Amino acid sequence: MFSTLDTIVAIATPPGRGGLGVVRLSGSRAAEIAQALTSRSAPLAARVATLTKVRDDATIDEVVVTLFVAPHSYTGEDVVEISGHGSPVLLERIMTLAIGAGARLAEPGEFTLRAFLNGRIDLMQAEAVGDLIDAATPLQARAAFDQLDGTLTRTIGEIDAALFDLIARLEASVDFPDEGYHFVEPAAIVGTLDGIIGRIDTLLADAARGRMLREGVTVVIAGRPNVGKSSLFNALLGTDRAIVTDVPGTTRDLVAERVDIGGLAVTLVDTAGARPTVDPIEREGVARSAQARAASSLVLVILDQSEELSDDDRHVLDATRERPRLIVKNKSDRPDRCDTSDLAASVVSVSARSGDGLAALREAIAGALTTAEPLSDTPAITNTRHVALLDDARTAISKARTAAQAAAPEEFIAADLQQARERLDEIVGRRTSDDVLRHIFERFCIGK
Ligand code: GDP
Repeated sequence: MFSTLDTIVAIATPPGRGGLGVVRLSGSRAAEIAQALTSRSAPLAARVATLTKVRDDATIDEVVVTLFVAPHSYTGEDVVEISGHGSPVLLERIMTLAIGAGARLAEPGEFTLRAFLNGRIDLMQAEAVGDLIDAATPLQARAAFDQLDGTLTRTIGEIDAALFDLIARLEASVDFPDEGYHFVEPAAIVGTLDGIIGRIDTLLADAARGRMLREGVTVVIAGRPNVGKSSLFNALLGTDRAIVTDVPGTTRDLVAERVDIGGLAVTLVDTAGARPTVDPIEREGVARSAQARAASSLVLVILDQSEELSDDDRHVLDATRERPRLIVKNKSDRPDRCDTSDLAASVVSVSARSGDGLAALREAIAGALTTAEPLSDTPAITNTRHVALLDDARTAISKARTAAQAAAPEEFIAADLQQARERLDEIVGRRTSDDVLRHIFERFCIGK
């Protein structure tokens, strides 16, 4: 990996124009480099916002400079934030001047990587920084912040401490075989391990919900042509992204947009009217709709309530019978001629045109996606890397439990538990290969 001894610089605010833009420096020479750029001769005081000017040949911008002295900074090193006007031209000029004065352009995620390497945060928290910045809904942001705040770090730490305690007692039994008793009896080991396995199972059970929250879900809108799929898609989106027309069968391709429904990042997919057809383009669209339905978490089957159920409607209803689905009667502003009493499913009524029933539809969608637990309880675990490692730890602990039940020698049990601890160490980053680190920080962009 790149050197962590350099002083690094990057624009910390997003590309584009804004009221303010921030250039951030981190490393032992941060204060000296910042000083070289500005007209200020007195040294920067820690944690004081200082108004000064950045100068090249002439003054470039009036800026506010703040120094955070190690270790009390984001990265754990000396950090200087130069806050200027939010113009890409200015900020790049400031950055170039900093590079001229001895800084190196930061790699993606390098500020957060340094925070991790300097022990300011563990790996789980570093990953949470990425998730927090990427969050598309307030609930996603809250889950990420909880992780950044250390909720999961503490839980993993408690499990690790329990394992450590047990290993210590097992090893004492190995080291002092003549004491005439075991420091811990097999039955007590099994009992303790059951407790630990229970805690891990709770975390893992929560993970499916957590992953859904972190990664979002796909909801497909299906139905025969002209029931109002595109209109409903637009109504749920609040924009006019899909093409709405009264010619049947015009949505031939899939149109997808992301929306926040009940805190979930939902990718909403509008599909081609699902009806048997000979038109080759329309057929391709219909085939794609079927694929999208198969890959989705939920299908909204749209019916037109102003018309009786047709064969085409029945065709869609049959095709989605095995899928998690919600039946939606659209055009509730018109007389109800659509008898759904024989469908044995709950039906939501909406009008894409007037907006009636949209709130109830959103609620029904969120409810259908999160049948088991309410989403408002922030899940502890959202990341597949953590799930895989926790799963491995559980396997090793189960093995230890089986060994304890068979009254196997203490060192065998201790070895399995040690293996479980190693997996937990990988979660928090106490033992993580460079490859894993590179993979994690690659997805950050420069400046984070
Ligand atoms: P799709 O083929 O299923 O995507 O249907 P569209 O969204 O293109 O809508 C078909 C027709 O139904 C259009 O003329 C819409 O204006 C009309 N429509 C859609 N939603 C409603 C509704 O809630 N009420 C009424 N009265 N008409 C609607």
